Amino acid sequence: MLNTEEIKPNEGKKVLEVPERIIVKNLAEKMNVKATDLISELIKNRIFANINDVLDFETAEIVADFFGFELVRIETIAEKRKQQLKNNIGPGAKKRPPVVVVMGHVDHGKTTLLDQILKTNVAGEESGGITQNVSAYQVNKKGETITFIDTPGHEAFHSMRERGAYITDLAVIVVAADDGVKRQTIEAVNFTKEAGVPVLVAINKIDKADKNIDKVKQELAEIGLLTEDWGGKTVCVNVSAKTGAGIDELMDMIILAADMEEIKANPNCTTEGFVIESHMDPQIGPVAIVLIQSGTLKDGDYVSVGSIWGRIKRMDNFLGKRIHKALPSTPVTLTGLNEVPKVGAFLIGETSRLVAERRAIEFAKIEKEEGRGERQIISTSRIKELVKSRKVKKLNIILKADTRGSLEAIIQILEAIDSEDVVVQILKMGVGNISETDIKMARSSNAKIIGFNVEISSVIEKFAEKEKIEVKIFKVIYELVSEIKKGLTSILEPEIVRTDLGTLKTIALFKLPKKSAKKIDMIFGAKVESGKVEKGSLLEIFRGDEKIGDGIVKELQCNKKVVKEVKKGNDAGITFEGNVLVQENDIIVSYKNETKMRKL
Ligand code: GDP
Repeated sequence: MLNTEEIKPNEGKKVLEVPERIIVKNLAEKMNVKATDLISELIKNRIFANINDVLDFETAEIVADFFGFELVRIETIAEKRKQQLKNNIGPGAKKRPPVVVVMGHVDHGKTTLLDQILKTNVAGEESGGITQNVSAYQVNKKGETITFIDTPGHEAFHSMRERGAYITDLAVIVVAADDGVKRQTIEAVNFTKEAGVPVLVAINKIDKADKNIDKVKQELAEIGLLTEDWGGKTVCVNVSAKTGAGIDELMDMIILAADMEEIKANPNCTTEGFVIESHMDPQIGPVAIVLIQSGTLKDGDYVSVGSIWGRIKRMDNFLGKRIHKALPSTPVTLTGLNEVPKVGAFLIGETSRLVAERRAIEFAKIEKEEGRGERQIISTSRIKELVKSRKVKKLNIILKADTRGSLEAIIQILEAIDSEDVVVQILKMGVGNISETDIKMARSSNAKIIGFNVEISSVIEKFAEKEKIEVKIFKVIYELVSEIKKGLTSILEPEIVRTDLGTLKTIALFKLPKKSAKKIDMIFGAKVESGKVEKGSLLEIFRGDEKIGDGIVKELQCNKKVVKEVKKGNDAGITFEGNVLVQENDIIVSYKNETKMRKL
């Protein structure tokens, strides 16, 4: 499918279909040019990529143009899915629960709101079954079922949120009444616009004394969300996730908004779903939380999930209760996959093991082609940065995390660290605890091991100590990131900052250097005409307009006394060491260089 053919000639240029990201080698093959020629052309464009590096579409477009090709983007997998889901609304389609995503700026109260909705809408007995934070759940209200999914709050989860918007019917944007519209609020709104998802605003924390609802509405209007009471169309409900005020009204509004949309899916067509979360359970193996989008997933079904496959062994609903089939809009926790799938991967119900396996292999090939495989570590923007400064220093790390989602989130933040001189090189990343292999790899490649929500056994820890391998484990992403930033800062070359101190004019020569000497040691007198000169000052010697040499102040005297500095208006006796013979009437600039630790 991705085998690119030339599709039509266009103004003398041949048209090629390529994915969003493509490996240099593959692009060369598709254009039928030598990889070395393509690399030379990249270098001309100041991109020093090697044959296995991944180019983004824009870069590929520029170089392909040189070889007479016009590139056309192959529609992304997400776009394809969206289209397919639309096709599901046909004969046989039935009403399904709306899928509502809650988005908003960090700390504006998403989690609290989701907890409050769960608390007030799941029957008492059942809610006892919820033992931990769930990222997806269903509630019943007035005979209607609603599926809620949480989107991780940190900006790091950018990509997941973006995809989160794709799989949902409705987005609730949470804005804190005491804080107003913030960057992540705007991002969330933009995602919903892009994905064509209707929006409902919940102004939260109205119990707080410093709330300013009008100001929030003003700010919402500024980003194109004019609320109904301001003459616009955006439904907006004032709530307090803490006290529960307004939650009922919010639920009513969600049901009303969902009724306006045609929310349907065919429970009898091919099963499709979307991985919301995944992790490796040491006892039961790979676990995934999947939102079913169409069809019905049943025990024993074969599935492919991106590049992996499996046969459903067990499914639990959000209450942890075993279920044997899952209809559209149901979030299920499932086991039976051969590996941990990526968050954001699509699950497809398959007719047999063979088909499932084959589709997974084909998908892996596409991923590889697009450079999305696990080993993909340097992005094109990174390569561009490498180009700018060939002296780039690398901080090698091995990254282990509890879930694919966290891995992806961490990678994304690391990629965004903007420095021309240092770069994080992830030698290996994976889901799972820190292993002996990790330590061995760290030893052979001089890397640090960074873990997120993972563990290290005391045996492995001792081994790491013996091998002097630094292992750090974090529970909070930004602490992890700040540790890596610290590591990067420590390998940054310090910056040298020059500060001019003053100017002098030579008035007398006291002791002249030996003729044979290679470096010039001499003593002269000079008047400080501006600023000052210090012991240890660096000197630039000018004769006329021309700089003729450099030197340093070894000793300094004023009125025959040894001093640390001589200021404007005074005469200084300077013991000089330099590379030029100073003469009367030379102009001398005194300055100092300071090394400063640089920041990222
Ligand atoms: P998230 O980052 O958007 O998930 O935000 P959280 O739900 O973790 O809430 C951030 C903080 O705001 C927590 O300390 C909550 O207790 C607090 N909070 C959330 N909702 C309310 C509310 O309605 N009123 C008040 N006073 N505090 C709230």
